[in-house]
Amino acid sequence: MSKHNFQTEVSQLLHLIIHSLYSQKEIFLRELISNASDALDKLKYLTLTDKDFKSISFEPQINIEFDKDAKTLTIQDTGIGMNEADLNEHLGTIARSGTKNFLQNLSGDDKKDSNLIGQFGVGFYSCFMVADKVQVISKKANDSKAFMWESDGKSGYSISKIESDDYGTKIVLFLNDNGTEYTNRWSIEQIVKKYSNHISFPIYLHYSEEKTDEKDNTTVEDKTEQINAASAFWKQPKSSLKKEDYNSFYSTIANDYQEPMHYVHTQAEGALDYTTLFYIPSVAPMDMYQPDYNPGVKLYVKRVFITDDEKELMPTYLRFVRGIIDTEDLPLNVSREILQQNKVLSKIRSNSVKKILSEIEKMATEAEKYKSFFEQFGRPIKEGLYQDHENKDILLELVRFKSTKSDDLVSFADYESRMQSDQKTIYYITGGTENTLRNSPLLEMYKTKDVEVLILDDEIDEIIISSVPKYKDFSLKSVTHSDAAEELKDETDKDAEKSVKPLIKKIKKVLGDQVKDVMASTRLTNSPSCIVTDQNDPSAQLREMMKAMGQSNNIPESKPILEINPEHSIVKRLSSMRKNKAFNNICQLLLDQALLVEGLKLENPADFVGRLNSVLEESI
Ligand code: ADP
Ligand code: MG
Repeated sequence: MSKHNFQTEVSQLLHLIIHSLYSQKEIFLRELISNASDALDKLKYLTLTDKDFKSISFEPQINIEFDKDAKTLTIQDTGIGMNEADLNEHLGTIARSGTKNFLQNLSGDDKKDSNLIGQFGVGFYSCFMVADKVQVISKKANDSKAFMWESDGKSGYSISKIESDDYGTKIVLFLNDNGTEYTNRWSIEQIVKKYSNHISFPIYLHYSEEKTDEKDNTTVEDKTEQINAASAFWKQPKSSLKKEDYNSFYSTIANDYQEPMHYVHTQAEGALDYTTLFYIPSVAPMDMYQPDYNPGVKLYVKRVFITDDEKELMPTYLRFVRGIIDTEDLPLNVSREILQQNKVLSKIRSNSVKKILSEIEKMATEAEKYKSFFEQFGRPIKEGLYQDHENKDILLELVRFKSTKSDDLVSFADYESRMQSDQKTIYYITGGTENTLRNSPLLEMYKTKDVEVLILDDEIDEIIISSVPKYKDFSLKSVTHSDAAEELKDETDKDAEKSVKPLIKKIKKVLGDQVKDVMASTRLTNSPSCIVTDQNDPSAQLREMMKAMGQSNNIPESKPILEINPEHSIVKRLSSMRKNKAFNNICQLLLDQALLVEGLKLENPADFVGRLNSVLEESI
């Protein structure tokens, strides 16, 4: 016998599980059954594809037995089994990076946390919520040796060699006071139906029943009953399936016990023979923004589980989708390399993406439903705009933005419906918090002329919008770009421009190379000045963002263009002023305030305060 300590993380986890998930303790059974089912999947696959395993007599099943007097509960499977190294690695350490996230994501809410347990693959240890000793007796298929792992779930475990004829794994729980309630038929059946009904292998419950005959003699009879449905759920005719059935299948494959937001089931026959069943969760998966997220779609070939770890099955921007793809048109022994360039699979994938997007488009007709969808998955959908050119048109219909004309998010179609008759451009403003953007002086003209501007305050907006030059025939233009106001100019604007020409010349001299140019503005109403960016330059905000990311070398040097408002009283008075120190200060303040109001940093705040004070002094 060899003794081992748990890896520190395992001990931490065990402590957490036992103490924080206490009220959800029944999930231990779902976790053990799910592991048994994985082990059966693995062996089934080998018996179908590997000649060394073809001769094995494989009767896939999960058996559950309890003993009320001995206070034990046993879960046994005829799956792949574990050898000594497997036992050490799988039941003594935590290899997956997900665990750290798990520990960080614990909310203190038992119900939420117990959902996380499954998602982060730390399921086995949950059995210590109901047991104070656990034995795992396992023999790997095609191996001669069997081993017993034993632990009290505190500091460590031991492994010893034992004799066993059958391959597979048997887990014996020595129940503690919390666990004894599971030593009866009713509660086991109920938990299995609730969580594991659609596990594709039969789960048998073994129990004994007392019988009394006419002469009052009692005998004990051993009985066995299959307690789950055990069928490839997705192969059943759609007409026979109800929403509850779909929801319950969802919980078994997604490890999520909240109802999904939406599902779509496709059974395609013809050129390609395949079935897909996809779900949109109601809440975004925890790891959605992590590069090593767990893919949510499982691949089956002819009902045989192949993989649940293949990111290529869905484009990254649809990584929140859960479900299965089952096809008749692939060989069972597909390798990963083959999967990635396989024509059949890429056709199924492309059909699946179209199907999912069209379902999302349907959801978009229900305002409330779509609102909660977009709250959860709006960001990944936006990523689609630069990842998926094939489906750009439909993605453009699916994205939503804030807007100057609505408190709710709006679509490009909404915007189009409100455009002025001669308007050819869709305007947007980016680079700042919602509040700075909504109060930017750059929007003044659009307000006066009643033209809608999209408020793109989401970090990702600045990046995606550059890959969207057009919606239908309308070009998209940032209001921070120098020529964005051209289209909306009228005659009086042009006269006003002329009137400030001499002043502009003087201001240019004062500001020198701080600015690329000084121009008369038609876009301002209340503010004396604003800055814009040359059409061909990156915006000031984008530059600041790149700087913050340590990318300042990669951005071409570009200076702001200062625009002044000919109608503003400061500008009017400045026109009649002689060039002197006060004039210089005011010119500089026109630039400073325009930068500040866009949320940008001043090169030299001390100079600014000095100027401000000298102007204040004179006015008092
Ligand atoms: P996960 O199932 O997410 O990997 P678990 O903590 O539930 O995490 O299980 C850890 C690992 O232990 C499994 O990945 C598997 O390799 C192994 N294991 C657990 N139960 C069994 C079993 N019944 N048969 C074979 N291997 C098992
Ligand atoms: Mg598991």
